[in-house]
Amino acid sequence: MLKNIHIILIGLALFILLHTFLDTVFAVLMTFVLLFSWIIVNIFSVKHSLFLKSICRIRTKEKIVFLSFDDGPSDQFTPVILSTLKRNNVKALFFCIGQHAELYPDLVRRISDEGHRIGNHTYSHNWKNAFKPSSIIEAEINHANNILFDITGCKPDLFRPPFGITNPSISKALKSSGMNSVGWDIRSFDTISKESQKMIRRISEKLRPGSIILLHDNREITSRILNELIQTIQNKGYKIVSLADI
Ligand SMILES: [Zn+2]
Repeated sequence: MLKNIHIILIGLALFILLHTFLDTVFAVLMTFVLLFSWIIVNIFSVKHSLFLKSICRIRTKEKIVFLSFDDGPSDQFTPVILSTLKRNNVKALFFCIGQHAELYPDLVRRISDEGHRIGNHTYSHNWKNAFKPSSIIEAEINHANNILFDITGCKPDLFRPPFGITNPSISKALKSSGMNSVGWDIRSFDTISKESQKMIRRISEKLRPGSIILLHDNREITSRILNELIQTIQNKGYKIVSLADI
């Protein structure tokens, strides 16, 4: 629905701006409202951001999709999730928070040893940091990368912006640290969802070739529904693959 949001908002803003020459206070106000909405879309929609280009879906005609897990590792739920993935022979992407990796290095090692790819989700996962200078954001990213490197021997090159917030400072920090941003095109809403069947249905109805699904490995509901979710995705003829496979 928001596919052409940039063009629509800017187009409308310019259209109304032209009308300001006809002198209406309402037109001026509307111009500012639309431009403000445009900035908000860019900051809070990782899929539509012009500030930072993120990989939100792989362009392919093959019926393949990707699972990604944010905010872990969690001592409660990551082990369950890893066992489910192993049982189904599915590989995924884990965007770990540096602070959590420090707490549970064995889990980070297990994620890596079991063939999953580890990405960076900043050190502290604090939304306020997104609005700080790029040097601070870069330090956050590098701090998490160093921790993950010390545990696994591999330096992550993929980054997921916490809360999907993007802006020019984050873009600059990523360029300096040589990392690529990965977003998603399907949100599971597992951080707020309480109904497992609704969550599985919502995800499976949105599947399309190359989709990247956003999940969280620190959520009980995610650990509970994962097996059924994998089966549902596969029953729809999709293969779940790792980004390393393409
Ligand atoms: Zn997160």
